[in-house]
This record gives sequence, C-alpha cells and structure tokens, in this order.
Amino acid sequence: MDIRLERIAESELKPKPDESKLGFGKFMSDYMFVMKYDESKGWNDPVIRKYEDFSLDPAAMVLHYGQAIFEGLKAYRGKDGRIFLFRPTDNLNRMNISAERMCMARIPTDVVLDAMKQLVEVDQEWVPRVNGSSLYIRPALIATEAGLGVRPAAEYLFFIITGPVGAYYSEGFNPTRIYVEDKYVRAVPGGVGHVKTAGNYAASIMAAVEAHKLGYTQVLWLDAIKRKNIEEVGTSNIFFVIGDDLITPELSGSILPGITRDSVIQLARDWGIRVTERTISIDEVLSANEDGSLKEVFGTGTAAVISPVGALHYKGETCTIGGGKTGELSQRLFDELQAIQYGFQEDPHNWVVKTT
Ligand SMILES: *Cc1c(COP(=O)(O)O)cnc(C)c1O
Repeated sequence: MDIRLERIAESELKPKPDESKLGFGKFMSDYMFVMKYDESKGWNDPVIRKYEDFSLDPAAMVLHYGQAIFEGLKAYRGKDGRIFLFRPTDNLNRMNISAERMCMARIPTDVVLDAMKQLVEVDQEWVPRVNGSSLYIRPALIATEAGLGVRPAAEYLFFIITGPVGAYYSEGFNPTRIYVEDKYVRAVPGGVGHVKTAGNYAASIMAAVEAHKLGYTQVLWLDAIKRKNIEEVGTSNIFFVIGDDLITPELSGSILPGITRDSVIQLARDWGIRVTERTISIDEVLSANEDGSLKEVFGTGTAAVISPVGALHYKGETCTIGGGKTGELSQRLFDELQAIQYGFQEDPHNWVVKTT
C-alpha cells in the first residue's frame, strides 16, 4: 500500500509553542495519518495530510457503543538530530489485541509503522529539543459505520495524531500521593481491563476526580472481586521493592500489559535483580511498610516512564513510603530508560527504532 503525502503550504503551518510550556496533550502538530477500512475493500486510502476536523455521521457506531481503541508512544530527539521511536511494534501489536477484543478490524502493522515513521519525519520540526521533552504519538481506531444496531461495525477509521510534550519531571522527581480506591473498580475478570479501549478511561474519571479533591495525584486500583489485590495505579502499572525483590502484579487479564512495565522487568533482570510477577495484596504492602521491608513503590508508563510513589492512603490512613523520597532503583530505572530512549546509551534489547 502506497502512503500518499498531501503537503501543506508553508503559509498554513501552525506556529510552534514555547518549548518551556509544553505540558501534556495541549498542542497538536501540522499533519496526521488517516486510513480507512470497510469490509469489501479492506484497508485503503492511507494518507498523511493536514491535521483537521473529521466529518462523522451522527449514527457512527463509535459515538453510541464505544468501539474505540488507542495507543500511546513517543518520538525522542537524540544526538545529531536523529529521532527515535521506543518499541513501536509492541504498541501496534498490542493495538491488534485491543482490536480483537473489541471485534474491530486489525490494523496492518507494517504499513502503520511505515506511516508513523513518515509522519514523524514530515513533522520533525515538532519533535521538541528541550531536555526531557518528546513528541507524543497517538494512534487510534474508531468504528465509523452509521447504524444503531449493536454489532461489530463494518467500517473503521484509523488515524495517528502527534504533539510535543514536556518533561514530566521538569523540576526533578516529585513522588506522588496515591489514593487506594476501595469504592470504584477499573476492570473485572472477563472484561476489557487488559486492552486500551476508550470506555475504560471514561469509567475511571470519577475515581480520579474524587481522589484529586482529597489531594491525591492518582488512584491505586484493587481487584474488583475481593477489593484486596493490587492491579495498577491510574494509567500506569505498579512495582514494589520489598527486601531485595522487585514485585509487580501478574498480567491476570484485568491489567494493561504496559510496554514500560515489560522494559523495567527486563532491565532489572539484566542487572541481576529478582523480579516476581505475582498477586500482591494491599495488606501485604502496608505490613511490609510497617516492618520496614517496603523500600520503594513506583508506577511505570509511557507518559512519565517511572513515577515514584511517596504516600499511600487507604481506608482513612495515610502512610509514607521510603520517607516520601525517590528510591534508588526508581531513579536508576528512570535514568537508564531515558538514556536508551534518547539514544544516549547502548540499546541491548533493540528497543529503539530510528525514523530518519
Ligand atoms: C497505557 C497504560 C499503561 C502503561 O502502558 P505503557 O505501554 O507502559 O505506556 C498502564 N495501564 C493502563 C491502564 C494504561 O492505559
């Protein structure tokens, strides 16, 4: 499939934002990638064109029954102007797992990877230069067929938009305060917690809003049945350092299999650290904190890479983790992953992919 490029006139390019005030998800670059699917033609008409509004039928099935999935990854500007993607094929393969669970058309990963590289290349001036910044890449797939029957749609739109984002920790690590959620749940066994589908995020907003009101950054989700076992934190996976062990909940079906999670597991094992994927309850974590064996807690995800947890609030009590400071392993993992992502460091697992 040939990807068409519809160039925009120089005069139509948007002004670039101030790189010291990027934040997250506020600015979109000049171009987007779009590709259509229908049952008779399959995937067709892949094009890189101006970022602009879509036109959708009001009966488009995504607007009613929520067949919508997405991904999130970043392009990093390394030395000598080279631009790197971090494990993009893993994102695209995960998107197809999401597509299957939601009965949507699978994307052709080779075409999409090619499109992603070309998109980053035409928008390369949007890949920011300031330390710790990057170009966030958002692939998404939605059901566009018009109809009100509940069934898999026969038409889809796949698109990729991008935009510059700032360093998550522009003033150094700031360990987060986390609210352990015992009222709302994120995902149930047999549900869709293991895929990146839009509805999961819509359903999580209320818990996040209530936690924010109480002064917490994010919620820590417990399992939906016993409300005891730890699942993830906000939109990140979670790790605990207890004694000499690095522990993270196993991929039970209700947890998102994070690519940062997988990278952290591999790096820690490279360093000779014992990593266990297993069921871990909130009680075990709190008692390990009391007896002093809990050393660090951190979240992992594309946005922040590593986000140290400084406090946990559970059933009316707040406990401090690791003196509220960033742990040694959290810092080491953050530094190593960033160095690999920006191409400053050897990449033994072949995680980074050059775009130019
Ligand atoms: C995206 C996401 C993660 C992190 O995945 P990465 O591939 O590491 O970015 C974790 N949990 C949830 C619920 C997510 O949506």
